[in-house]
Amino acid sequence: MSPAELAAHLPKAELHIHIEGSLEPELIFALAQRNGVKLPYHGVEALREAYAFTNLQSFLDIYYAGASVLLHEVDFFDMAWAYFQRAYADRVIHAELFFDPQTHTARGVDIGVVIGGLQRACEWAQAELGISSRLILCFLRHLSEEEAFATLEAALPYRQHFVGVGLDSSELGHPPSKFSRVFARCRELGLHVVAHAGEEGPPAYIWGALDDLKAERIDHGVRCLDDPALVAELARRRTPLTVCPLSNLKLCVVKDLREHPMKRLLDAGLCATVNSDDPAYFGGYLNANFVQTVEALGLSREEVIALARNSFEASFIDEETRQRYLARLEAASAPP
Ligand SMILES: [Zn+2]
Repeated sequence: MSPAELAAHLPKAELHIHIEGSLEPELIFALAQRNGVKLPYHGVEALREAYAFTNLQSFLDIYYAGASVLLHEVDFFDMAWAYFQRAYADRVIHAELFFDPQTHTARGVDIGVVIGGLQRACEWAQAELGISSRLILCFLRHLSEEEAFATLEAALPYRQHFVGVGLDSSELGHPPSKFSRVFARCRELGLHVVAHAGEEGPPAYIWGALDDLKAERIDHGVRCLDDPALVAELARRRTPLTVCPLSNLKLCVVKDLREHPMKRLLDAGLCATVNSDDPAYFGGYLNANFVQTVEALGLSREEVIALARNSFEASFIDEETRQRYLARLEAASAPP
């Protein structure tokens, strides 16, 4: 089995998937029809053609248009269930799903509708596919601190259904420090905290996520390599990075996958993981990310196994479950 085939075969956790970013054009149009929403695209092909992004902002504009078809609890269920079925095919056995409540509440959709539909899909994934999952509520960083506080307040009646909070959307111009107080409140509530940093933004934003937000994981974080002291600190703390290679390629963070920093991150001793970010928009789910990265960088069998192991080390699961998953990984990675 080649390293790429091994990567596809191993059980894995996915820790950086925006569930709204798993909406395929076919499902967007099906939901638009079901809900009577008019889209500014003539059909599935026209929408797919519009996926030629040049940067994070041009992607976000289409991403928010796509999410506009989500109105009822069943829509959120259908979206997440479609993701879980694809994740199952890619041997994902644990998934931590980001969701953006503000994208929906701004359109008049109740946050309980959002969380209710996603939560029901998570229960189905466990029952039907044996996939464990967690929900992580993300604040949109281009909106204000005040709006983040209001979103947190609105979500508290559903506190038992999400394990953490994150920070996503347009990075440049919105440093982590903007949300220091709301993240402090989240930590008081016992929520895990993660943040997008160092995708397009500078290493200073990764420092900010660590020091101002006390982030337990950094989402993306690839630009840490510009700052050797930061790399050393991330290695010392063993702070996981949830890296998304095909997203980096599609959003022009790297020009070619052969230039992707994944191998350098591993060589630096960092707890890097592979993830799909917004798979419907960026050209592939978890195994596509793994296989293409492993082939482009010529990663070894040991590096592939380390990436899968890191995904469980970085998961927000209890220790007993972690040991069980690591044992499954070890069994699956043993040479025949
Ligand atoms: Zn992301």
